[in-house]
Amino acid sequence: MRILLILLWLPGSVLAQQHPNIIYIMSDDHDADAISAYNNSLIQTPHIDRLAKEGMKFNKAFVGNSICAPARATLLTGQHSHKNGVRDNFTAFDSTRPTIGHLLSQNGYHTGIIGKWHLRTYPAGFDYWRILPGMGQYFDTRMITMGGDTITEKGYATDVITDDALHWLDSIDKEKPFALFLHHKAPHRNFVPSLPYLEKYHQQTFPEPASLFEDTSGHGSAWRIQTMSILSVMRLCGDLKVDPEYLRDIPGLSPTPDDLATYYATLKRIPEADRSRFKAIYAERGKIIATEKPTGITLLKYKYQWYMQDYLACIGAIDENVGRVLDYLDSHNLTRNTLVIYTSDQGFYLGENGWFDKRFAYDVSMQTPLLVRWPGHIPANSENNELVQNIDFAPTVLDFAGGKIPTWMQGISLEPLMTGKVKKLNRKYLYYHYYEFGNDHTVIPHLALRGKKYKLIYFYTVDEWELYNLNKDPEELHNLMKEPHHNKIFRDQKKKLMGLRNRYDDHEVAGELH
Ligand code: CA
Repeated sequence: MRILLILLWLPGSVLAQQHPNIIYIMSDDHDADAISAYNNSLIQTPHIDRLAKEGMKFNKAFVGNSICAPARATLLTGQHSHKNGVRDNFTAFDSTRPTIGHLLSQNGYHTGIIGKWHLRTYPAGFDYWRILPGMGQYFDTRMITMGGDTITEKGYATDVITDDALHWLDSIDKEKPFALFLHHKAPHRNFVPSLPYLEKYHQQTFPEPASLFEDTSGHGSAWRIQTMSILSVMRLCGDLKVDPEYLRDIPGLSPTPDDLATYYATLKRIPEADRSRFKAIYAERGKIIATEKPTGITLLKYKYQWYMQDYLACIGAIDENVGRVLDYLDSHNLTRNTLVIYTSDQGFYLGENGWFDKRFAYDVSMQTPLLVRWPGHIPANSENNELVQNIDFAPTVLDFAGGKIPTWMQGISLEPLMTGKVKKLNRKYLYYHYYEFGNDHTVIPHLALRGKKYKLIYFYTVDEWELYNLNKDPEELHNLMKEPHHNKIFRDQKKKLMGLRNRYDDHEVAGELH
């Protein structure tokens, strides 16, 4: 009786500790190699690393379709693209269907989603939302509020989205647990850092990946057709902000009207007080091009460095803002009863194969960072090598919240893995399906099977297969399909791919995968 009385006396916030608050932070195109907990050679991210030190780092977390809108629809539904309907960036999410927002609300949570949404409809199922229209802008971004009004928020997007998220946390009563989905715009292209981080990174030189100079000859159609090349596709002026005044008379490098429009529109949005410094740095790049007139590998080397400087500078601001969220939890005595998840909508090429962007089922773009912390529940400083996927995120969050996972979700809860109740998953393979073959980067649609040792990819519109031994060839440069003695492995992997295709009920690629 005495125990019961004590329980009745406890305020709701203490009882609610049974299920943690949830903060899910997702950035856009943040490759794991740009987090020092994963790779120490490019950037230091002490705040994101804090999640690894105080929680668990997943080394084999992947997505099911490496592109923005589909990854977001998968987060909301726990389903692969063919089930949630968002196969590409041009399809609207059906906001009449239930999402993780509805399910958490039903389970007694305050729910909020703030930042990038990118699903062409307004968020459904969340108590509170404030979203960027499309991709928004880096400076003075527009935001759509719940009333449907579009407002302008002064400042840098990564700071502003965090400000909005912390204001929302301040505004809610803490009697109920909360679930905050904080979705950054950064570091999505067109990469525009804030001045302190541009200053920090623009003079640094970054190590080149071994495959930066890989050429497409000897590879299949998908390699030959893709337009992800830093050298030939990434624009000096439009993407890397090289001052066009220095490029005008250089054959092959002179800016197009689109480049000029992008460059001047970007400059115009930069705060007036900072603009001359940005222009000076972009002019330094221009002077190098005008003086040296680099071509081929030399030009690629410059472009790679400027790409890394701008991309990593955007991530510097993300790390700082993750720190602000963690400080908020500390100062409000919320750290111990809050599950924090940090991830990205997918990986990103940082010069491997000479590329930028994502889309391919190769590990660089299929992998996504995943770090989780809940002190006292998730073992500190732990690592996990099980195959996990973004279809698991919704069921995992729901499980932590004490909710029942609906049968239509295709992922599984990672809660037992994260809390150390189990060490292994009963899962040997992941499924992947990329669909979009539009104007952007022309990556041929494909199915893939990602196992622990092998990866099988089928570019079905051109009927080409690729098979990689991930242990011997982690960069996926040597297609074993060229080697006849791998036929047995191929047949076995193909059978497994068809098995997963049936299990996930994806019959859009008809037939027996001949
Ligand atoms: Ca993305």
